[in-house]
Amino acid sequence: MKITQGKINELLSESACEHNHKKEGKGKNKSCTQVAQPGAAQGGCAFDGSTIALVPITDAAHLVHGPIACAGNSWGSRGSLSSGPMLYKMGFTTDITENDVIFGGEKRLYKAIQEVHQRYSPAAVFVYATCVTALIGDDLDAVCQKAAEKTGIPVIPVNSPGFIGSKNLGNRVGGESLLEYVVGTVEPETTTPYDINLIGEYNIAGELWGVLPLFEKLGIRVLAKITGDGRYKDICTSHRAKLNVMICSKALINMARKMEERYGIPYIEESFYGVEDINRCLRNIALKLGDSEFQARVEDLIRNETAKLDRELASYRARLKGKRVVLYTGGVKSWSIISAAKDLGMEVVATSTKKSTEEDKARIRELLGADGIMMEKGNAQELLRVIDKTKADMLIAGGRNQYTALKARIPFLDINQERHHPYAGYVGMVEMARELDEALYSPVWAQVRSAAPWDLEEAV
Ligand code: SF4
Repeated sequence: MKITQGKINELLSESACEHNHKKEGKGKNKSCTQVAQPGAAQGGCAFDGSTIALVPITDAAHLVHGPIACAGNSWGSRGSLSSGPMLYKMGFTTDITENDVIFGGEKRLYKAIQEVHQRYSPAAVFVYATCVTALIGDDLDAVCQKAAEKTGIPVIPVNSPGFIGSKNLGNRVGGESLLEYVVGTVEPETTTPYDINLIGEYNIAGELWGVLPLFEKLGIRVLAKITGDGRYKDICTSHRAKLNVMICSKALINMARKMEERYGIPYIEESFYGVEDINRCLRNIALKLGDSEFQARVEDLIRNETAKLDRELASYRARLKGKRVVLYTGGVKSWSIISAAKDLGMEVVATSTKKSTEEDKARIRELLGADGIMMEKGNAQELLRVIDKTKADMLIAGGRNQYTALKARIPFLDINQERHHPYAGYVGMVEMARELDEALYSPVWAQVRSAAPWDLEEAV
């Protein structure tokens, strides 16, 4: 699939994405058109976005065609876990040199694909373009096609060099590659009326494993996980699902919309965080897939699970009740975590609305109440000001903000992709409560907040 300006424009103006809807008639929201700044690309370029979307396919090899730094900067930055193959954790790169820049890197890429195939027997090879190899004009599509013929395995080009745009755009280019080369290429051995695909769930810290048992109990089969703990062949068969469930992310919304157009698969957008959200997710799936008997089964499961959860959370709720939290995260999580915190009796006093759509913001407003602060932007200084103003007890944010929490001498919980604990589903709620409790009641805070010994000596 060639990446042309027309394709980029199409992905940036994705009709199903609310970021592209006119904001109170005043033009487009910037989020879908933002471009990584030169020198500030780490964690933000389109290449990085495409690897975020595709690398969780665990039995495929992911080969980066470019200088070693592109692979090095993005490798291992996400905590997507696998229940089986570990090939996705290997970092493959062509590591091109000045010589390749002058004479072209296609031969080197062709050899690299063959070597990966011979040494690791992957289910497929995804080949990622980067800025340098796109600029020197290496024809990724042609090399991949030739290599696929030679090796007999699918070799998929992902034309998402960093300079074309943001991480979000890269996510979508990754989705386009799946649509173009993977989805619909294999028929499933069997189908059931309860087959679903999960889209945009990356199994960070194993979150998926807290939710899959619920689906199993209800007889719902997850045909393809796109892409957390995903298998290549499952994704090939995903066009036979009866429903696409998009989880906590608009990143792959182009996939959901186009699968609806091409294969008639409807999609719903759900979240696995917080009791209310997981209940709503199960109910919505039942509404789309099942009859009244199936819906009654879902209600039974919800009743049993929430009763069990209430018993497990009772002691935590007593300790967490009334604790004030500043939340700094992006997108759907900015409201879904508020709802989870409220389930635990905590009060979210401020949250970010960075990357949130108008729909997300409306939910945040409703959940926060009149006194809640919505932060459009947030740097360390702004966060410290809000923490001070709201007398917050803790900060829930991404890993890079932990030092801000330390400066404010308050506990911190990592909620973003680098987190090590799964917070999804009913079991995730217990895990989150435990982590919050441990962070808030750690004895270290009493020491951190007390005066330093030398200050006490001076006072005497
Ligand atoms: S693809 Fe381009 S922007 Fe992204 S890491 Fe490589 S050189 Fe940097």
